[in-house]
Amino acid sequence: MTEKKCPILTTSDGNPIGEQQAITAGPRGPLLMQDVQLLEQMQHFNRERIPERSVHANGSGAHGTLTITNDITKYSKARIFSEVGKKTDCFLRFSTVAGERGAADAERDVRGFAMKYYTEDGNWDLVGNNTPVFFVRDPYKFANFIHTQKRDPKTNMRDMDMQWDFWSLCPESLHQVTILFSDRGIPQSYRHINGYGSHTYSLINAAGERIWCKFHFKTMQGIKCLSDEDAAKLIGRDRESNQRDLFESIEKGDFPKWAFKIQVMTNAQADAFPFNPFDLTKVWPHADFPLIDVGTLELNRNPENYHAEVEQSSFSPSAMVPGIGSSPDKMLQARLMSYADAHRYRVGSNYHQLPINRPKCPVMNYQRDGVMATAADYGSNKNYWPNSIEDAPKPDPVFKDPAWALGEVIVDRYDSTVDHDDFTQVGNLYALFDDAHRDRLTTRIAGVLGQARREVQMRQLCHFFRVDRDYGQRVADKLGIDVSEFMEHAGEPALA
Ligand code: NDP
Repeated sequence: MTEKKCPILTTSDGNPIGEQQAITAGPRGPLLMQDVQLLEQMQHFNRERIPERSVHANGSGAHGTLTITNDITKYSKARIFSEVGKKTDCFLRFSTVAGERGAADAERDVRGFAMKYYTEDGNWDLVGNNTPVFFVRDPYKFANFIHTQKRDPKTNMRDMDMQWDFWSLCPESLHQVTILFSDRGIPQSYRHINGYGSHTYSLINAAGERIWCKFHFKTMQGIKCLSDEDAAKLIGRDRESNQRDLFESIEKGDFPKWAFKIQVMTNAQADAFPFNPFDLTKVWPHADFPLIDVGTLELNRNPENYHAEVEQSSFSPSAMVPGIGSSPDKMLQARLMSYADAHRYRVGSNYHQLPINRPKCPVMNYQRDGVMATAADYGSNKNYWPNSIEDAPKPDPVFKDPAWALGEVIVDRYDSTVDHDDFTQVGNLYALFDDAHRDRLTTRIAGVLGQARREVQMRQLCHFFRVDRDYGQRVADKLGIDVSEFMEHAGEPALA
């Protein structure tokens, strides 16, 4: 039998370690500063924890696969839905909401159901819960609501007066409160809950038509819940019951599954709907908006490293792919900003670059640097836009979302460069300058513009000419550029 060869222990710099004993001046000490192995270990230990999530701190995660079983391409051009049988890798993190990291799993609480799909068009994150509604509809109330679920500032204890004080002042919470205190309020495990995108999103098809949409994931293990008594007993002997159940099920090949379905609503239906269809405290009744099959989600692989994959996994509703869009839902609009912002604080400004968060397609943009930047995709690319570099990353209008009509208002990306006169007021200023001032101005400009590419100089010269012929001529002369052949066009007064 060949002897198994163990890997050699090293420092974080990869230097082999000969012995794991502290270096001391004699067997009784003291320690020496030169023991860099020991120092590194102690210093790294001091930095092992990252800030826990303000909400959903206690969670479990698993890798999986989404398989499309029904054609919904008439609603969405998203490539994840492009054909029946299509499979997309995903990562899902379940959580409780109020408890801190290490809180007991089997508590009466909403469960988080956050999904990350690694599609060809980048990540699609659907950051949902096990309930189809939420406690508040106005994002102003969110942080306040969470404070009531956490700890009293003085006693540092959960406080029922705080919770019910807030709820009694916010009747929009009643729908969610009723679900929370119903028999489904303490799930038996994460495998036995439904997941809901909760918010109203939109789907956009290849013809650019938008339809409003809600996402549903129905557990194929059946809903199973605990009574208060059983939950109390379970917590007494196992605080990690949800983590244990999920991990052990996947480990033994019993892969949990969810039936992925959607509801859709046209604009006309939205106008006729008795409630605001973008109100997160309301559902769309199944009788009026039947569930449409989409696919099957299966979790089939446990993380190898909890911290790297689960704790650092960072989900944000802002991760949306072409074919899936947002809606006027105020809570969604707020989350589009706050989730990514929370990860920038909690994990770091380059959280996208960690393996668990990294899209499985190239990432090309002009954001740069920050803590722990690997710059994997950017290399030596320039870091600004607009630019006139031939092979630089450029937007492709194919991926532009169609405009929304919200009553009289059209929501769109308006071109900020059209319908603006960028020259007249500059000309008015130039006219104030005396001859010597004009000379100093154009000397300074030519001094620096002369260091740019000739193509850039020519483009900028046109702007100076559009402001004032004299302005352009002086700069051109100082750059040594003969513009006589262009004067027919560039010498005209402001073109605005
Ligand atoms: P339906 O009879 O068509 O649907 C009722 C829904 O309620 C089912 O999805 C059922 O889930 C779910 N349900 C049953 N018990 C509970 C519970 N204790 N907590 C949460 N959900 C539960 O009626 P409607 O579509 O008209 O909805 C009626 C109410 O059902 C809603 O006001 C809402 O509270 C709740 N609900 C509605 C959903 C929707 O999207 N329309 C989704 C989830 C809940 P299951 O089939 O898995 O048993």
